Amino acid sequence: MLELSTPVKFVRRVGERIAVELAKRGVDTVEDLLYHLPFRYEDRLNPVTISALQAGQMASIIGEVRGSALLRTRHMPLFEMTVGQGLDTVKCMWFRGTYLKDKFRAGQMVALYGKLEASRSSAGKFKMIQPQFEILPTDATGEDAELAMLEIGRIVPVYETLGGTTAWGAKLGSKWLRRVLWTVFDELESSRGGDPTHRERAAMDGAPEISDKEEETLPQDMRRRLKLPSRLAALKAVHFPEAGTPMVELIAATTPGHRRLIFEELFYLELGLELKRRRMRERAGTAFTTSESVRAAIKQVLPFHPTAAQKRVLGEIVSDMKKPQPMRRLLQGDVGSGKTIVAMQAALVAIENGYQAALMAPTEILATQHYLSARKLLADAISPKTGRPYKVTLLTGSLDEATKRLARATIYRGETHLAIGTHALIEDKVDFANLGLVIVDEQHRFGVQQRFRLMKKDDALDPDVLVMTATPIPRTLALTLYGDLDVSVIDELPPGRTPIVTRRTTEERAGDVWGFLKKQVAQGRQAYIVYPVIEGAKDDQPELDFAHDEEAGNRDEGIGNRRAKATAKAELFPKAKLRSATEMYEELRRGTLAGLRIGLLHGRMNADDKEVTMARFKRGDLDVLIATTVIEVGVDVPNATAMVIEHAERFGLAQMHQLRGRVGRGSAKSYCILMTGGKVSEQAEARLDAMVRTQDGFELAELDLQQRGPGEFFGTRQAGMPEFRVANLIRDRAQLELAKVEAARFAKGPDPKVSREETDAVWARLKQQWQRRYGLVEA
Ligand code: ADP
Ligand code: MG
Repeated sequence: MLELSTPVKFVRRVGERIAVELAKRGVDTVEDLLYHLPFRYEDRLNPVTISALQAGQMASIIGEVRGSALLRTRHMPLFEMTVGQGLDTVKCMWFRGTYLKDKFRAGQMVALYGKLEASRSSAGKFKMIQPQFEILPTDATGEDAELAMLEIGRIVPVYETLGGTTAWGAKLGSKWLRRVLWTVFDELESSRGGDPTHRERAAMDGAPEISDKEEETLPQDMRRRLKLPSRLAALKAVHFPEAGTPMVELIAATTPGHRRLIFEELFYLELGLELKRRRMRERAGTAFTTSESVRAAIKQVLPFHPTAAQKRVLGEIVSDMKKPQPMRRLLQGDVGSGKTIVAMQAALVAIENGYQAALMAPTEILATQHYLSARKLLADAISPKTGRPYKVTLLTGSLDEATKRLARATIYRGETHLAIGTHALIEDKVDFANLGLVIVDEQHRFGVQQRFRLMKKDDALDPDVLVMTATPIPRTLALTLYGDLDVSVIDELPPGRTPIVTRRTTEERAGDVWGFLKKQVAQGRQAYIVYPVIEGAKDDQPELDFAHDEEAGNRDEGIGNRRAKATAKAELFPKAKLRSATEMYEELRRGTLAGLRIGLLHGRMNADDKEVTMARFKRGDLDVLIATTVIEVGVDVPNATAMVIEHAERFGLAQMHQLRGRVGRGSAKSYCILMTGGKVSEQAEARLDAMVRTQDGFELAELDLQQRGPGEFFGTRQAGMPEFRVANLIRDRAQLELAKVEAARFAKGPDPKVSREETDAVWARLKQQWQRRYGLVEA
């Protein structure tokens, strides 16, 4: 008898050998298999007619094979097939299609899925390049005939193969999965007294539930209230939708079955986060006070009037700091919104209370810059508490050993008031005498784990933690990603900023661009020119998150055509040569921009050289800084008014937005020129258009999130954020809100409507989920 926990090798059609392959994809049990959900559906009950379709659409068509041929073109073998419906036909083409030569026979019925393109030949209206296909069973016999109903006359699920691009891949595709899953449901049901959907209806009408207990993961009362089907019924309905299920709901993942699975996943995530928050609130932290002298200390260093938003968030931060629980707060504010001064003010509160503060930045350049500006800010200030000046200490990895040792000693002895550094600060060798506040700048560059390590350092009392980020994350998502943090937002820019004029152009017009730069310099301004790589055409820059564009709708089913397509594409678009920072530095300095004072900055230079170059640019001793994305965060030179980004098609949105934030920091009009060279994909087009259209970080973040998906967007792959099986944080925002509310309600404590047994089961499952899937290890 099958259980959800049964090893997958015992499933019919799987066995030992395939089980080994499946294990590589994280599928070990029947349950894992059931959670391999279809990524789309084809309505083969009500198939569309070709005449009702239009070019440009993604379409799924059922038709009859009329004829096929393998053509030898000059570049590669091309397999062509004509598929017809009555008088209408579609021509299909596969590059390097030799492997399809003996696959089709005239008269066979096939299901096709792909992008319809207008055909120039007179033979038919449309063509499809490399469509996905399935040969439909026509005259099957025996068991095959029985299983034929999985492929025709119903809404058919389509899966990503579980075999990857291996030779195996082709076998473990949709067809195989449908059969395997169908039998699994069959066996699960027969051992449990019938179709879960039917039992479900009976249960909803008040009949007692039959032995679904070990499969069910949500309390019955919660499911009733939220009108969610049981887990097994939901899984069945998602894999094999009943006739009449609206296709739009299936596509949008809003059928009751989808909703149930999504809710469950998000509920357990939110429950875990809720638990973390509760634990944090029980921990002991420092209760800072804000006396008159603390306020005086802050006032004497403020170089300008804070904006209303800066005042508000400082209020939120200080009110946290005054509480006896440790602060865990996220400060969000677009580039240039003035987070740094808020952080410095918070640091002064800690320092004036007799504690040390630490400020951690993701790059050496940024740490150094923070150090210099903190020293400048505090240079003439006298601490009302001690009657002495403030001591700021820099600690980064590339300082020489003696300097580092001295820095660590100063921090350890408590002489340092404010320590500023890179991740060198969280290395174990650094011991603070009395750490009260930790500020983490530009959080998106740090892994979540690192943050926890930092927080944990002090055994006695937990320091307050303020995390700053310029990534404008929609609030619900922020609450999930930084689930244990409260959120403050600076939603206003300092006065006097003018919008940055953003333009697109191509490499061919480079002459005009350099001319424009020269004019800016002649007016006493400075400029940045940014390249995607340091030297050569290599992806040699660890800082850069290249945009990995894939054209939409290309998720194949492992019928071997992904590889074929990749090669075909590579030949059609030979990898264009990338211009690099080092090469262009030489070229521009000797050529077009000769006579200007030009500097070069990239991640592989040593720290001293970087610092010297940055300082010269800051002082105005350099007119133009040619750089890689090392300047992405934090760099603050208000006199720089122009930025040129070469190969802009290669940059992700968040990155371009950050880069653009380097200009427009003073009151003079600023410019950002996005120059493209080489092929610009559809997605890159969308990114560039968005950059030209808006400067609103939230709007750009939305598009970025859509293009890249939450995992990449947050850079959470490394940081240990969950990869969801069903849920999608963008699409399922409403469900996320609901899950959060329900998780809080559940965690709050005994609900008379939920049995002891059910409650225990939820906690047990949480523990198992949290460890196995979310990897958000307990700190
Ligand atoms: P970010 O939020 O990107 O870290 P910064 O803190 O670097 O922004 O601030 C950007 C620039 O704006 C800095 O030059 C800073 O001195 C200036 N600035 C910040 N707040 C104000 C303010 N209230 N009035 C005027 N200028 C300000
Ligand atoms: Mg900053």
